[in-house]
Amino acid sequence: MADEITAAADPGRAPARLDWSYAPAPEATDHAKVRESYGLLIGGKWVAPPSGSYFKTINPATEEVLASVAEAAEEDVDAAVRAARAAYARTWSKTSGAERAKYLYRIARILQERAREFAVLETMNGGKPIKESRDVDVPLAAAHFFYHAGWADKLDYAFPGRKPRPLGVAAQVIPWNFPLLMAAWKLAPALAAGNTVVLKPAETTPLTALLLGEVLQQAELPPGVVNIVTGAGQTGAALVAHPGVDKVAFTGSTEVGKAIQRTLAGSGKRLTLELGGKAANIVLDDAPVDQAVEGVVNGIYFNQGHVCCAGSRLLVQESIAELLVAKLKRRMATLRVGDPLDKNTDVGAINSRAQLDRITELVASGEADGAEVYQPPCELPERGFWFRPTVFTGVAQSYRIAQEEIFGPVLSVLTFRTPDEAVQKANNTPYGLSAGVWTDKGSRILDLASRLRAGVVWANTFNRFDPTSPFGGYKESGFGREGGRHGLAAYLDLT
Ligand code: NDP
Repeated sequence: MADEITAAADPGRAPARLDWSYAPAPEATDHAKVRESYGLLIGGKWVAPPSGSYFKTINPATEEVLASVAEAAEEDVDAAVRAARAAYARTWSKTSGAERAKYLYRIARILQERAREFAVLETMNGGKPIKESRDVDVPLAAAHFFYHAGWADKLDYAFPGRKPRPLGVAAQVIPWNFPLLMAAWKLAPALAAGNTVVLKPAETTPLTALLLGEVLQQAELPPGVVNIVTGAGQTGAALVAHPGVDKVAFTGSTEVGKAIQRTLAGSGKRLTLELGGKAANIVLDDAPVDQAVEGVVNGIYFNQGHVCCAGSRLLVQESIAELLVAKLKRRMATLRVGDPLDKNTDVGAINSRAQLDRITELVASGEADGAEVYQPPCELPERGFWFRPTVFTGVAQSYRIAQEEIFGPVLSVLTFRTPDEAVQKANNTPYGLSAGVWTDKGSRILDLASRLRAGVVWANTFNRFDPTSPFGGYKESGFGREGGRHGLAAYLDLT
């Protein structure tokens, strides 16, 4: 900056070195009030767990403790399920669709009004860049409530010839990568369809779900219609196994998804699972390369790669691979990694130490297998959990980095010669959540999209979400859909 000023004051003098780096642009945090401790939302009241057990939730960018959060034991889960059952029987099952819609609209409007508060809290508790929580997570969460408000009184029209009926009590377990958005994905269709809910947020990111609990109270949602129990894996396990639950909706790892499916086998409970992914982002030789590079960067570095549908495998046609990888590395070097509350930050903090350890171990396996690694030089803050944007070239399909979900800012590049080979490689994974295709020709998009075993295929874009569009996977990425009419059906008895 000093050089710039000198150069302007003396135009005859050639500037020695212009500093184009961004000045810090931190978002203010004073309007996001964090309480010292949080209880459980059961039957419309915030209650302390009888066990007196609390855990600390931190800011992963600074490792500072933000709050103490109640750890729900089996008895608390039981109380929450009973509260949900009572609210279903007494109130919610008797509330008309038009009335339910009013509550959902109200929740959506309050979310919009309190958007800054939610965005800041989401970033502080989860580590994601403020521009993502502000521009993606919070607006999309509100959009899900708006969208489902529109369906609440039109269920008969959504499923003509059927008699849609709610299922009863839904148990919903959500992960830490989109804490508020996943709560909205789960709650909005369940409530629109007339179910009551017990929600279990992830251990590392409970704060925005708890703030949403306050919003539900502000919207005067009848007590017990939504109950929130915080805790770790045991709390989630107790909830899904509870005999008073009619439907389980889970988003998280494939491993836990399989365990839940085993628990529920034979119980008659309805289940939807949205699990991991290892998406192929396929770039054909006629693709607009610069646009594709932006899509690849967005596909894997958005939200530090903590995205189930992240484009973590780049499949690029051999003839343009060198050019594309060179452009990609140049673009990666411009990514700003650091303080998530800074409005210019592109890549924030890794969500937890455990996740950082997982990413580090998988990246080490890629190097040991013989892939070539590139990370742009960038300074990382001293405290907190960080991982540089990383790309691997020279990756064979058998490497763990090409097979396993890394859930971090790590991209594996593979090449192909023909579209058939691209499809084969893309489908060569136990997962099937999403994929991307980059090409100039609509016919190639339609051809590839119809052959890719992925629930969502983006064409000349990536990571686009809309409440009207069903989202979900094949194979080990789970089953059932969220969003759109299909997502609504997952919360209804249509027989
Ligand atoms: P988990 O699947 O353990 O977490 C998801 C949610 O399930 C959390 O609320 C968690 O609680 C809860 N949970 C954990 N164990 C059980 C159980 N036995 N029964 C019911 N609920 C349970 O994911 P992790 O946080 O352990 O992440 C591990 C890996 O999973 C990541 O590295 C990533 O690869 C993948 N993952 C994928 C996600 C996706 O959207 N596809 C999301 C999150 C992770 P708690 O957090 O309190 O333990």
